[in-house]
Amino acid sequence: MKLVTFCCESKELRPGVLTEAGVVDLVATDPSISSSIREIFVNDELKKASAAAASDSAVLVQNATLRAPISDPQKIVCIGLNYREHAIESGMAKDSEFGPSEPTVFSKFPSAILGPEESINIPAASKEVDYEAELVVVVGRRAKAVSKAEAMDYVAGYTIGNDVSARDWQLKKPGGQWMMGKTFDTFAPIGPAIVTTDEIPNPESLSITLRLNGETMQDSTTGELIFGIAEVVSYLSQVFTLEPGDLIFTGTPSGVGFARKPPVFLKAGDVCEVEIEGLGVLRNPCV
Ligand code: ZN
Repeated sequence: MKLVTFCCESKELRPGVLTEAGVVDLVATDPSISSSIREIFVNDELKKASAAAASDSAVLVQNATLRAPISDPQKIVCIGLNYREHAIESGMAKDSEFGPSEPTVFSKFPSAILGPEESINIPAASKEVDYEAELVVVVGRRAKAVSKAEAMDYVAGYTIGNDVSARDWQLKKPGGQWMMGKTFDTFAPIGPAIVTTDEIPNPESLSITLRLNGETMQDSTTGELIFGIAEVVSYLSQVFTLEPGDLIFTGTPSGVGFARKPPVFLKAGDVCEVEIEGLGVLRNPCV
């Protein structure tokens, strides 16, 4: 099931399911369904949503505009340096052969979230805005100190993310300011849909690419992840409780702009497209 958030003429955000026939309006089809994707996870309504989407009386929306599938997560957690080649190109691999020995963790605020086709704002405060194609794990159930073996039971699905990063803030400020560099407004594009785990049986062997103005800049597979999905969910949950709707950006492969010679940074007029096998394409222009 492809869960989306859409808006229509009223501009009100509503949960939906993307089907071959179009977007099914879940609440119009079944008014007992919660009014956001996050609440659908909180209230354990995935089966109800699936039944509504498949029913003969499913209400299809004309001219739906997709927005970020989740706009109000309690947490956005990000894993840095989780692909070996990227850790090396960043000059941050503790060991060039093995990469970091434990996940590097930072966060973004929900105010950074952006939907598909919405514009990434290149802020006046940064001269070094970069892109990062990422698989995003969406938490489906509350997870506290779960083991690696049980961790996948807490994952609802996956979406595409672009971990937009101001490198001058992240790397060149005194002491380093990872979070400041990562959480400018509009720096967390996600979408277009949350694809539930039943449709993605192999989340750790998906092709992942990023195109900048049509040119492929990153081209890898999630099989290259150093810390896999179950390991990351378990690791994080030892420290804080993961809640339904929380987003985990799992890290980016090599090919980012700042590591190129010469470096490439985003500017107004650029277009980023992140594509992950089975999850679609997340496209965002820059302004
Ligand atoms: Zn990242």
